[in-house]
Amino acid sequence: MTNKILIANRGEIAVRIIRAAKELGIPTVSVYSKVDENSLHVKLADEAICIGKDKSSDSYLNINNIISAAIATGANAIHPGYGFLSENEKFVSIIEKCNIKFIGPSSKTISLLGNKACARDIAKQANVNIVDGSDGVVEDVSDALEVTKRIGYPILIKACSGGGGKGISVIKNDEELSYLFNQTKQEALVNFNDDRVYIEKYIENPRHIEIQIMADSFGNIVHLGERDCSIQRRNQKMIEESPSPFVSEDLRKELGEAAVRIAKIANYENAGTVEFIVDKNNNYYFIEVNTRIQVEHPITEMVTGIDLIKEQIKIAYNNKLSFTQESIKLIGHSIECRINAEDPDNSFRPSPGLIKNVIFPGGLGVRIDTHIYPNYTISPFYDSMLSKLIVYAPTRREAIRKMRMALEEFMIDGIKNNIELQYLIMYNTDFVRGSYDTNFMNKFLEIVRMSRNE
Ligand code: ADP
Ligand code: ADP
Ligand code: MG
Repeated sequence: MTNKILIANRGEIAVRIIRAAKELGIPTVSVYSKVDENSLHVKLADEAICIGKDKSSDSYLNINNIISAAIATGANAIHPGYGFLSENEKFVSIIEKCNIKFIGPSSKTISLLGNKACARDIAKQANVNIVDGSDGVVEDVSDALEVTKRIGYPILIKACSGGGGKGISVIKNDEELSYLFNQTKQEALVNFNDDRVYIEKYIENPRHIEIQIMADSFGNIVHLGERDCSIQRRNQKMIEESPSPFVSEDLRKELGEAAVRIAKIANYENAGTVEFIVDKNNNYYFIEVNTRIQVEHPITEMVTGIDLIKEQIKIAYNNKLSFTQESIKLIGHSIECRINAEDPDNSFRPSPGLIKNVIFPGGLGVRIDTHIYPNYTISPFYDSMLSKLIVYAPTRREAIRKMRMALEEFMIDGIKNNIELQYLIMYNTDFVRGSYDTNFMNKFLEIVRMSRNE
């Protein structure tokens, strides 16, 4: 059978996967919803097939239609990208039964790590510190009160199937607990179709440090250093960098080895990310595993020189990892800014609509991963990310200067976006010093607000 990959996604990540497959000489099939028929991923693939109406539940989340599209076009592998069905155990087990290769871990591995409360158990088994909290799922308010008596406020209630920063509530006292517990469960049900929740101690102002791992079907597991994703708004990442200005060689080694131990226990294959939070004293705690490629994977590609998507595809087709742990060296510095269609002056309200024109930055060490082009219309149905702007330079200082220059050149005409806000962050003293944590954006937005009111 000849190889052919169906991409069960849209937007920039679908484009990214098509490019990698093309380089490897493998034909691609794009799937699309009605409203996406003029999207770049539809134009760039060798074949494209409509899988339903605009709503995600009718198209990019429609398992039957996607699998039928794969069978109809003779695709023998499916790449899920991120979001949508990428961590859906049911989707993956059906693909496995159809004798199609899923480009990612097995359904068994996803079942072990996909439920964030269960993943804590795996981390414990791997001898990795987890945040103090509940043993698994918390059933009701009285259960929750019991856990809290032991660990003390503040706590987080987190959805077991949560993602994208959604389904997380901070609780400071019994009163908040008694009404927010059921509210969070309800939100989890609506957003993730699963109302189970668990509890973690709320760590004040940590850094978010994650480790990229890559594993083949021969039992080789390698970690590719860290990404610092502490610049977040509402638990959603906005800027990422690698290496982290905060992580020492020793801590990197420790986090990397912890990530590999977790992957081993879960019989991990393909790309994944193990996420940690790290406090001021360098204590680190496991929070979750994302069993897929991540939005911010390009910064790891820049500093390691490894094409992670090509590697994912090669592993899925039963090749050994093309590198060893000893050969991985982080060279230089990379930063990514997520450019979103949103209005920072209006509570970050999404700003879909027609892109009348766009001018992309360029030059040595400037990378754009995007699906937008002039006259393309951003639909309100999906994620608001327009583009990732990634820079690479020998040092962090030069990377910041390059990012400033690139953001200055980047022009999107027609819809509101966060380019200017990202530009201001690149001049913030704390950011430039590398001295920040997950509370950075709260403080930064307050400064911006104050300076505007003066
Ligand atoms: P990353 O760590 O790759 O940046 P994010 O958590 O920001 O991951 O999520 C990447 C994309 O996937 C976003 O578009 C987000 O909305 C979506 N996403 C992540 N997890 C889920 C989930 N469980 N359900 C629905 N969408 C999700
Ligand atoms: P998601 O699945 O939505 O990505 P995570 O569990 O990875 O959820 O958490 C998202 C973000 O929330 C983290 O990057 C961090 O900023 C914050 N966070 C998560 N757990 C804690 C915690 N126990 N204490 C403080 N902040 C946390
Ligand atoms: Mg996370």
